[in-house]
Amino acid sequence: MAIIVQKYGGTSVGSLSRIEAVAENIITTVRQGHQVVVVLSAMAGETNRLLAMARQLDATPASRELDMLLSSGEQVSISLLAIALVQRGISAISLLAHQVGIQTDNRFGAARIQSIDTKRLTQALSQEQVIVVAGFQGQDVEHNVTTLGRGGSDTSAVALAVALKAAEAQIFTDVDGVYSADPRIVEKAQRIASLSFDEMLVMASLGAKVLQNRAVEYAFRHQMPIRVLSSFSQGEGTLVLPKSQALAESQSNNPVSSVVHDQQQALICLTDVADNAVSSIFDCLEKANVELDMVQLVGESSLAKQLLFTLNRDKLEYARNALQEITMFNKFGTIRSRESVAKISAVGIGLNSHTKVVGKIVALLASAEIDIELISTSEISCSVVIDETNLVQAAQILHSGFGLDSSN
Ligand code: ADP
Ligand code: ASP
Ligand code: MG
Repeated sequence: MAIIVQKYGGTSVGSLSRIEAVAENIITTVRQGHQVVVVLSAMAGETNRLLAMARQLDATPASRELDMLLSSGEQVSISLLAIALVQRGISAISLLAHQVGIQTDNRFGAARIQSIDTKRLTQALSQEQVIVVAGFQGQDVEHNVTTLGRGGSDTSAVALAVALKAAEAQIFTDVDGVYSADPRIVEKAQRIASLSFDEMLVMASLGAKVLQNRAVEYAFRHQMPIRVLSSFSQGEGTLVLPKSQALAESQSNNPVSSVVHDQQQALICLTDVADNAVSSIFDCLEKANVELDMVQLVGESSLAKQLLFTLNRDKLEYARNALQEITMFNKFGTIRSRESVAKISAVGIGLNSHTKVVGKIVALLASAEIDIELISTSEISCSVVIDETNLVQAAQILHSGFGLDSSN
């Protein structure tokens, strides 16, 4: 008998019939004699629906209230699943994060889990109850509801697996593992049987939505294996685990192991920026809780440079508002912004020369007449920003160009 933590994402609980299918899956695990803790996301589309309502009232909603609102989606899905389990004769209890003692810091919308009090969990498990926990949420020291960032139920599941000393965190989703590119846009992407925390962390941080980057970070820190599985079909899935174990299973010697995209990007361009204004621009964005991604400062003159940066699309309005407030101090000329950009990256833990890889990306995209707006490189990845309309074509070209296409 083992403690098993299973997380089901939005599509996996997207309708009552899907919730019933998840209940059956859990019952199979219970019948194998395991103690089961389930973590759920909100039903598919629900978090976006709530967010859109808030934005109708205010383009930059107050972050505390937004967390209160967005966390409600998970309350619906957990109670429905518990109802379905009880109806099938299984003893089950749904619990919100504060009832489980998931303590976070107070950074609304991007809170980090600090501790989990396992008392109530172990008590329920000892009474042979299936526990269904609301993912994505926590509470701060003042009992405010917090959320863990989009996709944060993955992190809830990993943190619960760590707190309960489970053997692994099982993440059930709508694809049957982690692929060499998003299988929804690159048909020839290949499932990866196992990969290291390091590599998954790079992929997740560059936008591979299949796991939230903080979940991988948490798992890495606590050496908790993650298994990504489909809730729609049977299979081995993908195991994310320490480097030594993952490498032993890896067959590939291709320096680029995956192509990752991030469709949640936006671009801001500030003109006529004086050198001595740059740090106050960053300060103002930091105060508005806006994280920058790729940054470029160009121009010869110390008075009229151009500052370009990308950021998460959800933060665009917050950034624009904050920047507008400091334009009156003549920190720069104009603000231009675009939502329709995407970042695409070639990832490989063993990239020998990122110059060679970036050269190849530029050549491959040029052959398809796809313009590149920004480039950045690191030891393990090369990223470019392109217009969103070219994303699918670019992902397919790079995947094939780096020899990652499956043969069938
Ligand atoms: P859930 O609601 O279950 O959390 P998500 O939508 O957050 O599911 O993540 C699963 C999605 O991640 C898949 O449907 C797929 O489109 C996307 N994805 C992006 N990159 C990858 C990748 N490299 N491998 C697998 N899936 C990926
Ligand atoms: N419901 C939240 C979201 O849509 C959390 C999650 O799905 O993991 O981001
Ligand atoms: Mg997700």
